[in-house]
Amino acid sequence: MSASYAILHIIIPFRATTQPERRGQLETLLACFQRDLPEARVLVVEQGCARAFNRGALLNIGVSVARCSDIDSVCTQDVDMLPHADLIPEYTRELDPGTVRHIAGGWNRYTQPCPRKSVGGIQRNFLGGVVMLKHEHFRAVNGYPNDFWGWGGEDDELRDRLVLHGLEVETSAGGITDLENNGSGLTRNQKLKYLKKTKQRCPNKKELRRWHRTHPSEQGLAQVQWQVMDTLEYYPNCTQYTVNIVEPC
Ligand code: UDP
Ligand code: MN
Repeated sequence: MSASYAILHIIIPFRATTQPERRGQLETLLACFQRDLPEARVLVVEQGCARAFNRGALLNIGVSVARCSDIDSVCTQDVDMLPHADLIPEYTRELDPGTVRHIAGGWNRYTQPCPRKSVGGIQRNFLGGVVMLKHEHFRAVNGYPNDFWGWGGEDDELRDRLVLHGLEVETSAGGITDLENNGSGLTRNQKLKYLKKTKQRCPNKKELRRWHRTHPSEQGLAQVQWQVMDTLEYYPNCTQYTVNIVEPC
């Protein structure tokens, strides 16, 4: 077992109120981690407050809660991204200096041609799903922004922060199942329309992106505030924190 394996923290942003199917996805993912990565520390950060889902703030809270003397790398992990056996070693392989690993980079959403939002026909720019980085790098870029309430934008902001700090993004090869696609039967466009209609999309993403461009890394990990409302142990290395995100953040 490598040294980094014991101190990898996997952070899962989670809430199953407006999207109840997230509960089953969490059970499937945790069964995988308990079986295949039993020594990784897994933190589920459940949003306890009712406002639109805030993935960036929850991931920052997870990293803050995980902070302890031996934290080495952190992996931000969506609940619906189930790694196949060939991807598991990517969670434990040492990161090369100055690099960040896009573990979900082989997922077909990122590799399928998309003429509208792409570089050379491929969506090479997206940095969602599962991303692993050194804790020191996450701190250096001040993590994710905290002010994207609703779907979209926070992952683009993280990518910009990493690029500004001169970090390289490497992409993992390996299989991944999108658990979301198994249940809802919605295409991506249908999903985005549905999120908009139900006010689950970030309404001011463009303005926020503009603000952050002129205030790089000013608002993020160091500014996030929260209260822990509840904790729950799923298995010895896996704890859920239910948190209230304290505004403004
Ligand atoms: N998420 C959640 N509950 C919600 C919304 C989002 O648990 O109501 C979490 C979950 O981990 C999910 C991640 O946020 O995988 C990203 O959201 P989503 O899957 O909708 O993003 P996409 O796959 O479209 O990038
Ligand atoms: Mn998803």
